[in-house]
This record gives sequence, C-alpha cells and structure tokens, in this order.
Amino acid sequence: MKFRTIKGTKDILPDEIAGWQHVESVVRRVMHDFNYREIRTPAFEQTGLFARSIGELTDIVSKEMYTFLDRSEESLTLRPEGTAAALRAYIQNNLGEQSPLTKVYYIGPMFRQERPQAGRLRQFHQFGAEALGASSPLLDVEMMALPLEIYKQLGIDHYSLKINSVGCEKCRPAYKKLLQTELRKVFSQLSPDSQVRVGQNPLRVLDSKNEKDRELTNNMPLMYKHLCEECTLHFASVRSIFDALTISYEVDGRLVRGLDYYTKTAFEITSTALGSQDALAGGGRYDLLVEELGGKSTPGVGFAAGIERLLMVLSQLGKSDQKQAPPVIYFVGLDEPAHIWTFLKATELRQKGICAEVDYLGRSVKSQMREANRQQAHYVIVVGEQELKTKAAKLKNMLSGEEISISLDDIKIPT
Ligand code: AMP
Repeated sequence: MKFRTIKGTKDILPDEIAGWQHVESVVRRVMHDFNYREIRTPAFEQTGLFARSIGELTDIVSKEMYTFLDRSEESLTLRPEGTAAALRAYIQNNLGEQSPLTKVYYIGPMFRQERPQAGRLRQFHQFGAEALGASSPLLDVEMMALPLEIYKQLGIDHYSLKINSVGCEKCRPAYKKLLQTELRKVFSQLSPDSQVRVGQNPLRVLDSKNEKDRELTNNMPLMYKHLCEECTLHFASVRSIFDALTISYEVDGRLVRGLDYYTKTAFEITSTALGSQDALAGGGRYDLLVEELGGKSTPGVGFAAGIERLLMVLSQLGKSDQKQAPPVIYFVGLDEPAHIWTFLKATELRQKGICAEVDYLGRSVKSQMREANRQQAHYVIVVGEQELKTKAAKLKNMLSGEEISISLDDIKIPT
C-alpha cells in the first residue's frame, strides 16, 4: 500500500520552495518596515475559541473545521484562521499590559474542510497581521496598505480593493431588522443557504454568490448607508486617508465576509488573475472580539492573505521563476582517497558559507560532471591521485568552460 497526501493537501516540493521563501521573505521585510513583530501560535486550539470568535453560524465553524476529541476527551480544532489564536495569545500573555498598542504578524498553515478546487485547499497557508489597542482609522488603512505593499514589492499591480463598513453593535441591530423585513418579502425565491441566513445572519445574504440571490437583493438597503454617527465618521476618515495615500478602492456595500466578528471596516483584495476563488486577502476591524474572548475591551483590526493564491497570481504573471542558488563548487572525485579529501574540503568551505557539493555515489567522472551540470554548479574541481600529490588542480567555470590553475590548499573563488 502506498500512502498519499490527504485530499486537499499538497506537498511543497524542493523545486517550488524558492517561490515560497521569496514570498515569505518579502512578507517578513514589509511586516518589519511596518513595525509588526512575528507571533507563532500552536496549530491546534480548544474548539470553543474558534466557535466563539468566528461565529457558530459561519460556514467555517458549522461545516469546515477539523475538530476532534483527543485522548482526554477534550475537543480540539486545527486552526482554520489566525486571528482567534493571536488574540488568545494576546490575552493569555497580557501583551496589552506591555504596550498600549500591539502589532503582530504570522505566517503559517490553516485548515478547513472545504471542497477542494483550484485555489481552495484543506491545508493552506496564510500570512496576516493584527493591531490591537487602537480604534484609529489610520490603523484600518495601515491594515490594507500592508498587504498591498507586499503585493507591490512582489510585482503584482493588478488587484482590486473593496471596502465596506458593517457598522457596530449600536447601528447594526436596527439595520439587520430593516434588511430582514426586505429579505422576507422575497424569502421563497432565495437559495436554501440564504433562507437559513435570513433569520440569524441576514448580512451574509447580501454577499451570496448565487446569481438569483444577487438579483433579488440588488436594491436592498446597505449597511454603510445606515451607520450611526461614530461609524459614519470612521468610514469617512478611512476613505479620506486612502485618498491622501492615493490608493484606489471601491466601496462595496455587499461585502460582509464569512466571519462574524467584524465591526466597522471590512475589506477584501481580489485579483482577476485568479478564477472563481479570486480573493487574495481579507480583513477588517473587530472592536468587540478581545472582550468576547475574555480579555479587556480592546479595539483591533487585522487581515489574512492566502499564500497559495498569491503564488498562483505570481505564476500567471510569469514572476515565479525563483530558484535556490546552485552549488558554487562541485568536486568531482576520481578515487576513494579523493572522495574523502573532497568531502573534508567541502565541509571546510561550507563552514565559510560557500555552497559546496561532492559525489557520494562513487560515480564515473562523466556522470559526476553531468550531475554538476544538472545542479548548475558554478565551478567544478576534478580531484584524483595526481591533484592530491601536487596540491594543484583546475577550477572549471561551468558557464564559460574556462579553466584556471589553483592550489588545493587555498581554493579561491574568482569574483
Ligand atoms: P479568510 O480567512 O476566509 O478571510 O481568508 C483569507 C484569505 O485566505 C483568502 O482571501 C484566500 O486568499 C485564503 N484562503 C482562504 N481559504 C482558503 C482555502 N481553503 N484554500 C486556499 N486559500 C484560502
């Protein structure tokens, strides 16, 4: 029996890893420039943490979580997203007491039992950030400017940013009632999924992907037109700061997002280079969430972005040709003493930070040369009895074919 990856999961193979590392290094650099510090939380948490934060009625919690009982009968869940765990860590470790504003980022795998398709996996990777402690609209804008800067530095300039305000606990209940009244008028024509949402989570009906649902709700009242004064001012500030930054965006009154915890700003970044799963990143403000999870009342805002989808966009744009740097020197050994000598020499060079490789398979000179070529080594040094006796050898430049004489006691790489 051959074991295989679980449906919806993927190996990231050595040939692909340079692209991942490139993305991760740009993410880390930009996060650093924006003064976010990395946090790493466990891959699994108590189930209640996600149920409580993401919302019992969301697709993620009701249908997609990998939940299991461990041997002591505790219900645990592989994290489906990063915010809940980051906030749990913030509360548990009193990070808010060390500084009034905490800015953290994460990179790591997330797990959701969704129907796999292009751009939708069961184990996928996200990078994301959370800023906790301030309700300034400047931070809402920072949270959108951050992934956009990452995309820009990776060479992606075709994306669209949609923003909305989903209000707060003061203005949302009245709007919810208003929307429910309107939705009930067309209830029988709505899709079964949307019908379920009318009672509990009517805002989600507005961002249904079902064509008929969209048609029926086309002229329905939108949250951002029914905001309280505080939310109206906040939304207006976010928009004017964007204008000052000359970042273009579109207000999309239907944008709600699949997680229940948002207040005020919600946003999504999409790319036309992707198919039906076109969301690159999403996020928003969640001023009630820290308290909901048992911490002190603390405003917060965050975003999460998919790495697989980002790599798909980069590949479509022809910007995914990163490769791990090849060996600088490949030693070809002619006999056993030469193999041992080249191994010791390679170890010495590696300690100096020079990537060196040797033959471990006792192959012929020809096939060692072929291997050096396959690995695109910059230089080859052939070592045999004669070279070891005279301590003199040839350093061959594999690109130009040029050979220069060198001393084996002091191997210098031409600059
Ligand atoms: P969400 O946490 O659902 O807002 O997702 C944030 C981002 O993560 C999305 O915009 C996608 O880029 C990515 N993402 C979410 N779910 C998946 C999935 N199942 N497979 C791959 N990427 C995903």
